[in-house]
Amino acid sequence: MKKVAFYTLGCKLNYSETSTIARMFENRGYLKVDFSDSPDIFVINTCSVTENADKKCRKVVQEAKKISPDSYVTIVGCYAQLKPVEISEIPGVDAVLGAAEKFQLIDYLDGFEKKEKPKVFASEIKEAKRFNHSYSYGDRTRTFLKVQDGCNYGCAFCTIPLARGKSRSDSIANIVDAARKIADTEVKEVVLTGVNIGDFGIQDGRRVEKFLDLVKALDEVEGINRFRISSIEPNLLTKEIINFVSKSKRFVPHFHIPLQSGSNKILQRMNRRYLRELYAERVATIKRLMPHCCIGVDVIVGFPGETEEDFLETYQFLNELDISYLHVFTYSERANTDAIEMDGVVPMKDRNKRSKMLRSLSEKKRRKFYEENLGGQFTVLFEEDVEDGVMHGFTENYIRVAAKYDPILINETKKVELREINNRGVVEVMEVGEEVLTH
Ligand code: SF4
Repeated sequence: MKKVAFYTLGCKLNYSETSTIARMFENRGYLKVDFSDSPDIFVINTCSVTENADKKCRKVVQEAKKISPDSYVTIVGCYAQLKPVEISEIPGVDAVLGAAEKFQLIDYLDGFEKKEKPKVFASEIKEAKRFNHSYSYGDRTRTFLKVQDGCNYGCAFCTIPLARGKSRSDSIANIVDAARKIADTEVKEVVLTGVNIGDFGIQDGRRVEKFLDLVKALDEVEGINRFRISSIEPNLLTKEIINFVSKSKRFVPHFHIPLQSGSNKILQRMNRRYLRELYAERVATIKRLMPHCCIGVDVIVGFPGETEEDFLETYQFLNELDISYLHVFTYSERANTDAIEMDGVVPMKDRNKRSKMLRSLSEKKRRKFYEENLGGQFTVLFEEDVEDGVMHGFTENYIRVAAKYDPILINETKKVELREINNRGVVEVMEVGEEVLTH
């Protein structure tokens, strides 16, 4: 029995796809093992958004070859689609498969016989038209369910459409089926993932379904405690979706909404499809209907043309906005994007300074959000990780809580009262009406 190990770089979508490819191997009689367990085959799923994608990929290949010098090393994923030839030249790589080929890799590589030259199967991205159904499995608590892939937007900084192709989706019927299968396992939380999930519903180039209808259908799936929407573009997060989530049985009050800049001038240069006023209005609607809702924000600093004034406009906008945390990205040049041709390049030291300022704003926002919720009662889903006798979990509105380790609590939901923020920045809790969970 050949042993195969996997390594994933990047996002939740990549995790769900690696997990699906791993199940394909298992169904064909391969043994899935840990990376360090002398595998015969390595599959490395790469990302194009990660800083230094090339360096990271090389490092993982080197590591793999150290563990199993005679192993067969296969590279798939976004970076493999963007730079197949360069990747095939990394010493130790045996095969590279692009977006249209990665789910057929066992057939393409037929027996994983090493050849003198690496094999490259990467068609042009316009060939990646199929939707390949995926969900992650392995973590008992939560699974990432892929509902959509690709993107038809053309944000000036982004390589994802070049790496993943046009927007396409699974059907609501298939997704509900998958959710029912997941409900038969121990998993309690499903995170809907995709590249641009608000754009859900395009099949074979035609829009046939709507994201809101998917949300409504999933809300009826018994056996899943929570559905979480991973990230949704502000222009696609309609009032109807917000309204439905506010009354839903299973969708949790947590949205992650990319803003990217709080300056309308920069948003237009980025080719984003909204202005800051729309964003502020979405946040206000959410908070009016769900005062406890957690709102996460993606923001990019140092985009070409971003002056100090533009950045301060973003800072001010975010400072005044009722949001809960930020994911801050420092702009970095990517080949074949519109942004790389733009003037107004921001010096790296300014990009880093701006990033630092927003990261500390994020800490302030998170703390304030946690403080506002102290004394409130929420449901925590406890996870497996244990640190110094303490276990963690998340409330439905994404507050990280700590409790004394008790194996019985793993993958269980408990109604708790949020008591105080400890010195590690997580919230200590008390089980409602019963024993104290705090250490
Ligand atoms: S919406 Fe913009 S940033 Fe998001 S994947 Fe599409 S092109 Fe990239």
